[in-house]
Amino acid sequence: MIRTRRAKIVCTIGPATESPAMLDRLVRSGMDVARLNFSHGDHAWHARALAGITAAATRHRRWIGVLADLQGPKIRTGPTRDGKPLLLKAGGELILTTRRVSGEGNLIGVDDRGLPGRVHTGDRLLLDDGLIALRVRRVTPTDIRCEVVNGGPLGSHKGINLPGIRWRRPALTRKDAADLDFALARKVSFIALSFVQSASNVKAVKDRIRRAGRHMPVIVKLEKPEAIADLENILDVADGVMIARGDLGVELGPEKVPVLQKRIIARAHAHHLPVITATQMLESMKENPRPTRAEVSDVANAIFDDTDAVMLSAETASGKWPLEALAMMDTVVREAEAHRVEAGPARNRRPATVPDTIADALHTAAADLNLKVIAAFTEYGRSAQFISLRRPRAPIVAFSPNPVALHRLAICWGIRPKWIGGGRSVEDLTRRAERILLRYGLVRPGDLIAAAAGTPVGRSGHTNLLKLFHAGSRH
Ligand code: PEP
Repeated sequence: MIRTRRAKIVCTIGPATESPAMLDRLVRSGMDVARLNFSHGDHAWHARALAGITAAATRHRRWIGVLADLQGPKIRTGPTRDGKPLLLKAGGELILTTRRVSGEGNLIGVDDRGLPGRVHTGDRLLLDDGLIALRVRRVTPTDIRCEVVNGGPLGSHKGINLPGIRWRRPALTRKDAADLDFALARKVSFIALSFVQSASNVKAVKDRIRRAGRHMPVIVKLEKPEAIADLENILDVADGVMIARGDLGVELGPEKVPVLQKRIIARAHAHHLPVITATQMLESMKENPRPTRAEVSDVANAIFDDTDAVMLSAETASGKWPLEALAMMDTVVREAEAHRVEAGPARNRRPATVPDTIADALHTAAADLNLKVIAAFTEYGRSAQFISLRRPRAPIVAFSPNPVALHRLAICWGIRPKWIGGGRSVEDLTRRAERILLRYGLVRPGDLIAAAAGTPVGRSGHTNLLKLFHAGSRH
């Protein structure tokens, strides 16, 4: 059997990994999806990073997905004078202002003029992922005077969270719309939407993508209490979700995150959607070459929770040990997978369909027979995704003539994407796939292969045929 890692790894690209040489090493070391974070960098930077990722993926003949992560309506502090952090002390005062200022002393700008109208005396504000806590003392039309409850250094452009304050905000800011247009004009595989509050936010963005004449999967970042309250409706319209544990923990309290993580993964799978578990997974590796034992446990537990992918954020974007972080994540995931308890029969699913039933049969075949590989023929990737969601023991090689589908399958658990030219018939496709599997050493003559396909060939999402045969035999 092929000894591959089944869960996928998403790496955020940033100053630590932007060079062509580092991107090449990430691709070689097992990155499956590259995340471009539009909270940072201009379009020229993202275009260069994209070119580097594509070049490295082509060189190593790998189908690497690219996730364009839009900043969303996050409120941020303004710049500090000469980039120097403000040093905030508990008990002191900080004034947040909508006036144009360079932050210094106890004054810092905010990038949203609406903020003073939303907060009241006594409200709690959290800055920089919750590291700094403020209590509002007095509000004027431009200024919010706050007491510093928890101090620390405050740099430029840090996020501001308003836990417990309801504020309906648009799905896309003007910056997001420009970034979305940029991403749609280029070869990215998914769009990630930040600070989604409702299913209607997601629908609005999907409508915009459709109006642009494109089809692009939308990964919804779950980081607002409003999104958790509307989870089922969001799952109805999303193409995947990210558990954005950083902001989720700031908004709801960190103690809520572990249980929510389990619930979100289970519910997303019931809706046939892949899940990325994100943020602070190997956080201490920003500074150190080895992670803490708690971080290692966190990565392993995400695998036991059945996540499809795990994500590295600052560890690969700006940390000192990006390649070590990727190698460590790969090792921890493989070790956890060696001890994963196999899933039982699918529960809590929507009514069964023909593709679901074939996916169930493949799961049984992989458990009961000595199946070496599942060859899934897929037009847009949907049928291979169904099979992945059943978590069969045998590796899944997804064959598609469509590069867009192959890039998108990079996020799906257990799937190895492989290009195959369009086939005339299922027989023609299985024969050619068998030759590819033998050529790459993925099977040996005599090994049992399961092929899942849809007839007529070339139609999407209609898997209706399952064939079991031995490599090299007449079939
Ligand atoms: C998060 O908050 O966990 C997250 C992934 O979002 P971002 O990194 O864009 O702040």
